[in-house]
Amino acid sequence: MTAQLYRIRKTLMIFALGAALLITLLLNTVRQTSGQLAVTPIKPLEIDQTAAAQRLAGAIRIKTITYDELTRTSATEFLRLHAYLAQKFPGVHRALKREIVNNYSLLYTWQGSDPSARPILFMAHQDVVPINPGTQQAWQSEPFAGTIRGGYVWGRGSWDDKGNLLAIMEAVELLAAKGIKPRQTVYFGFGHDEEAGTRNGEDGARMIAALLKSRGVKLDFVLNEGLLITQGVMKGLDSPVALIGIAEKGYMTLTLSAEATGGHSSMPPSRSAIGSLSAALSRLEQQQMPASIRDVSSEMFAAVAPEFSGINRVFLSNLWLFGPLVRMQLEKQPSARAMFRTTTALTVIRAGNKEQVLPVKAEAQVNFRLLPGDSQQSVIRHAKEAVADDSIRIEARGWEASRVSTTGSAAYRAINRTIREVFPGTIVAPGLMVGGTDSRFMEEIADHIYRFSPVRAEIVDLPRFHGINERISVSNFAEMIRFYHRLLANVSAGDYAE
Ligand SMILES: [Zn+2]
Repeated sequence: MTAQLYRIRKTLMIFALGAALLITLLLNTVRQTSGQLAVTPIKPLEIDQTAAAQRLAGAIRIKTITYDELTRTSATEFLRLHAYLAQKFPGVHRALKREIVNNYSLLYTWQGSDPSARPILFMAHQDVVPINPGTQQAWQSEPFAGTIRGGYVWGRGSWDDKGNLLAIMEAVELLAAKGIKPRQTVYFGFGHDEEAGTRNGEDGARMIAALLKSRGVKLDFVLNEGLLITQGVMKGLDSPVALIGIAEKGYMTLTLSAEATGGHSSMPPSRSAIGSLSAALSRLEQQQMPASIRDVSSEMFAAVAPEFSGINRVFLSNLWLFGPLVRMQLEKQPSARAMFRTTTALTVIRAGNKEQVLPVKAEAQVNFRLLPGDSQQSVIRHAKEAVADDSIRIEARGWEASRVSTTGSAAYRAINRTIREVFPGTIVAPGLMVGGTDSRFMEEIADHIYRFSPVRAEIVDLPRFHGINERISVSNFAEMIRFYHRLLANVSAGDYAE
């Protein structure tokens, strides 16, 4: 009898707990209503799309390629691009002051009407990555021909980043032609070495930042290239999603080296340089930095969760419970994996050059991309623990993750509003940039840095970035111009000032 009563009580208790859990999950789900900004639709700005596309195509024909070393040929190409911009955008060049920074970078100053308003900076880069050797044939249009075909402008830089650069120029040209002036001073900084690998921005954006700093400029915010408007990338969400990068990952390369007594391979020691190093590398790859949904990624999920329907919405609204499950599901894609952890990538290995000779040294490079919140020191500590071999030398170089810019600023609101106005029906959320951009040099002189490109992309388009068949649709390019045009109006208006 007692045993039976106990069983009934236990069943009831489990039932009650289950019901309580279900209610909590559902309450969390319905309580998180859409936080998307309500905007009144605006009439799209009229643009001569064909003429604008042709100007972009012309810029693509100028081969401002960044190789590891700035070559002579590229140098003349940058000067050609400067002349091209001056010729195609006369209004900009009349209304704004143009300065050449460190030979090839450009800084434009558009004097504001209100000296008490804090200045802002829009960035883009003039340089493009080269064509990967052997892929030239796979292009449907010659990468530097600037072809317009099938509603697209094709070519290297159409997306990254001449699209943004030319769209900014087009927008300012339209405003300047009407004699419109911004309220606050607006700077436009166009670097020339954003794509220069680990030196990215050292010669361009860093020098622009130094020049502004020497003049005592304190920026309210910076907008640079960054995350996109994607559709179909977040499974279960059909609307386009615009992510505004509020932070970007840091970068660190560890060089690991193992030494051993060399000699003839007929009499090997029990421990070789290659053996020790390989074991260390294998441990590093196995013991990844811990992953979690925190900071920027949790802010992103909080913003998008209410936009999902069905079970996805329940999961995303209850990350306290389903966080690990959601993360495991998403981590199947490398791009999503990179959002949740400091990544470890084994990239270079060097040892030995003759099959019967034992090398005295083996060396490897491991590249980490640091999540905001992890520091170079903490990653080095983790790496040393994972390697667990004092005979391996470890040297580090790189930079920390960026600060996280708030979504509560007037600048974020203005960008958010502009996206909702120009791209109706688009969900806006903050996001993390997993790659690095040259905006990191602006941290010292800017309160907020946002990384966003008004470029539309679907999953199939993502490999075009730095890859083959890079292109932008003529209609999207017109939207990009509208975006910058509207953003400049919004930041000049009262909403921004509050
Ligand atoms: Zn870029």
